[in-house]
Amino acid sequence: MPRTRLTTEERRARHAARANAYYYANRDRVLALQATKRAADPEKYRKASNESGARWRAKHPERYRESSRRIAREYAARHKEERAGQRAAWAAKNPEWNRERYRIWCSKNRERIQQYGYRRRVLLLSGGCGVSREELGHLFDACSGKCAYCLTADATDVDHVQPLARGGRDELDNLVPACKSCNSSKKNSTLLELLMLPRRKVTQRMLAR
Ligand SMILES: [Zn+2]
Repeated sequence: MPRTRLTTEERRARHAARANAYYYANRDRVLALQATKRAADPEKYRKASNESGARWRAKHPERYRESSRRIAREYAARHKEERAGQRAAWAAKNPEWNRERYRIWCSKNRERIQQYGYRRRVLLLSGGCGVSREELGHLFDACSGKCAYCLTADATDVDHVQPLARGGRDELDNLVPACKSCNSSKKNSTLLELLMLPRRKVTQRMLAR
């Protein structure tokens, strides 16, 4: 079989493969030799190493970015508590900066804060009424956390539609989320009575919906 002439690319690839194989077969020897050279002229070695690093980075920008991110992530994970402590100490020394940062965070996370407040209310309220936190959560979800009477204010209470004092039960089908204002305006009235009390705030709000 006639020998085919290799292209430059192919020759380079073959050379690289051989060098690689040699390295892995003689790793200890190669490393020892490198160490001797390095010890002989550390300055020269450092320079060469920096340059070859720069060449590699220029050739593989994606891999470089990836690996530096990984290293940073691993470092951050290792020094998590230390960093948190430093940040807290710095924030304590710079209250204005800290307030400003909190303000920016709040303006960027409005929905999250609302969600948090909403979940917290559900948690608090579920301790005071006859349904589970899950059931109360569904009830709040049905109204997106808003008052069932005015539909605009955030619900902060759970209201018994048929008041307990009027024989209403402390069960899911008798409960609605309500805001403070509507709840206190409703008092111990039934829904039918509210229709006869048009001057009550809660009645006006319901009719204006
Ligand atoms: Zn309301």
